[in-house]
Amino acid sequence: MFDLYSEILLDHYRLPRNKGRLEHPTITVEGVNPLCGDELTFDLEFDGDRLKKVAFTGKGCAISMASASMLTEILQGKTTAEVEVWIANFREFIREGHAPQGVDMGDMTALSGISKLPVRVKCATLPWTTIEEGLHRYLGK
Ligand code: ZN
Repeated sequence: MFDLYSEILLDHYRLPRNKGRLEHPTITVEGVNPLCGDELTFDLEFDGDRLKKVAFTGKGCAISMASASMLTEILQGKTTAEVEVWIANFREFIREGHAPQGVDMGDMTALSGISKLPVRVKCATLPWTTIEEGLHRYLGK
């Protein structure tokens, strides 16, 4: 277990990026992982086809919180199409245990050992499934 808690992961857990609420969210979406007790709320502010701002609040284990923090760094300012690509990238990354070819996962690379721990996969994936729900709600899917 301990090699999962790399410095990068702990850094995001202790100093989460984009934690808090937005003043004018377009969409607010909540996600829960009952297996671990992780709870997340994302505020998403869209400007046309761009995710202009993203912020989160919540509580849970280090993996879910760090994954949420990393997600906000990656997705802030991306277009809705790019967000969909990143959701797919993340799924492949978690399934395979390494980044898709030609993709730099950045700090998210710290989560590469997760694929071997099915219970923890749910923690790491929660922010991404929650964001996907928010995106689809915005797009009217
Ligand atoms: Zn968890």
